[in-house]
Amino acid sequence: MIHLKTAEEILIMRAAGRIVAAAHAEARAIVKPGITTAQIDEVVERTIRKHGAIPTFIGYPPNSPHPFPAATTVSINHELVHGIPSPHRVLQEGDIVSIDCAATYKGFVADGGFTMGVGKISPEAQRLIEIGEEALRIGIQHAVLGNETRDIAIAIQTYVERQGCSVIREYTGHGVGRSMHEEPQVPNWWPRGRKQRAWRSYPLQVGMTFALEPMISLGSPKTRVLDDHWTVVMADGALCTWTEHTIAVTDGEPLILTLP
Ligand code: MG
Ligand code: MG
Repeated sequence: MIHLKTAEEILIMRAAGRIVAAAHAEARAIVKPGITTAQIDEVVERTIRKHGAIPTFIGYPPNSPHPFPAATTVSINHELVHGIPSPHRVLQEGDIVSIDCAATYKGFVADGGFTMGVGKISPEAQRLIEIGEEALRIGIQHAVLGNETRDIAIAIQTYVERQGCSVIREYTGHGVGRSMHEEPQVPNWWPRGRKQRAWRSYPLQVGMTFALEPMISLGSPKTRVLDDHWTVVMADGALCTWTEHTIAVTDGEPLILTLP
């Protein structure tokens, strides 16, 4: 079931989103060669708590045998998402790093993140990051009344594949609200032919709030999860990027809730 939010609830989610954006800004400011992924996590957690919010990732999901142990996921190069911060993991010149966090504020969650270069990066890595950001922008542009979740997915996939990159299929965007993961799922691709009958597309409605998070690789779209139960990597070791905003569907332009 999809929980539509009232205007008041969307305002609270906007406040949660500003806190996420503040954490991103603090994280961005310290990213450089020699910094550990644990240091990024410390800055993110401190910023979220300073604003009176709770870092949603800590202990998520509840009742799991392997709850996530930190406020931030930090994923480097061929790591796609869900990297666990560590004091032993040091950023190197030329890496690209994805930083994801969520904040729960007054009972509502906002979820967002970005990928950036560490020091000087290759033109190929820079182009990949820009394709990821553009894919997210295109997805958001399609989050308007009259469209369905399928239209967002197809718009993202079409753009990314035209750039010669692949779209990861095993992870999707998702509804956000009182929980970090609600219905609907919002994929970044859509199956062709008969398979698409098994997929449910949801017409967009005013008050829907969801996270869009295109995940893109320079190689095959296949992923695997490391033995730490969390870190998702590209199976072929290819460079990948990911970027995310929580948005709200309105009767006009979509509202991006995780902007500053
Ligand atoms: Mg996220
Ligand atoms: Mg998310």
